[in-house]
Amino acid sequence: MKKISCENAIYFMHRDNKPALEVEPGELLEFEARDCFSDQIQEESQLFESADWSQINPATGPVAIKGAEPGDTLVIDILDIKVDDKGTMIVVPDMGALADKIDQSETKIVPIVNGYAQFNDKIHLPIKPMIGVIGVAPEGDEKIPNGTPGFHGGNMDNKKITRGTRLFLPVFHPGGMLALGDLHAVMGDGEVVICGVEVPGEVLLKVDLIKGKTLGTPFLETPDYFYVIGTGKDLDDAGAVTLDKTYAFLKERLSLTSNEVAMLMSIACDLEICQIVDPLITCRMAIPKQVFALYNLSFA
Ligand code: CA
Ligand code: CA
Repeated sequence: MKKISCENAIYFMHRDNKPALEVEPGELLEFEARDCFSDQIQEESQLFESADWSQINPATGPVAIKGAEPGDTLVIDILDIKVDDKGTMIVVPDMGALADKIDQSETKIVPIVNGYAQFNDKIHLPIKPMIGVIGVAPEGDEKIPNGTPGFHGGNMDNKKITRGTRLFLPVFHPGGMLALGDLHAVMGDGEVVICGVEVPGEVLLKVDLIKGKTLGTPFLETPDYFYVIGTGKDLDDAGAVTLDKTYAFLKERLSLTSNEVAMLMSIACDLEICQIVDPLITCRMAIPKQVFALYNLSFA
């Protein structure tokens, strides 16, 4: 197994980032990750405004995967996500979807004890660790800050990206250049105040490669669902992108008419929100595996 330390931090994804590590497809890989504030906020007296903004949203990496070429897909098995025993939340006036409810900045430290995030003495939430930022070097010469999601992945804040799932990311440049960070101990769909329980930790994964096949947008497989993930400038646009990519995915793999594919998207699939607070918005379409069991539906 290879390990990559959080000392290897990048703040935007771009083809010119030099790989911190190179791995063979199929190798086990452990990423150490700082929290989204680069661990700068340790106490409730420290407000978000006091943090060095140039260090917000670090991602550990990038890791080059040998043999990955444009037009391929990285297949990332997320084997484990370990989080530290203390998470951080912030609210900031003028930030997030509840900005008009927030008069002053506040930091809340959330202890994580025996698998529960202790919000206060009456509310203990079972943790569901997830990866907020995971992506590759974007297409062309685009330089995308880690706070922004896109076809390359990035800040998708998709709570379904957890242990035991398989993420597929398009490769736009040789090596792919995988980086990740922004772990959350727990988060709700929407991420409405702009954070989950932000936490440092470690992610164990295995990266493999599918040659010459791409969906052009992130795709997730869980035990029961496939999810097509789409990003857009607002919720309407993110929904439209997600539907478009879902249609393409299903049409290519099912021997059904266009109308039937559209009908099935309307009755069997769920269009869901990942987050509505980042510079671009992310949705996902849930495709239940059971419905398509007799079609042997799969990415490959
Ligand atoms: Ca995030
Ligand atoms: Ca976050």
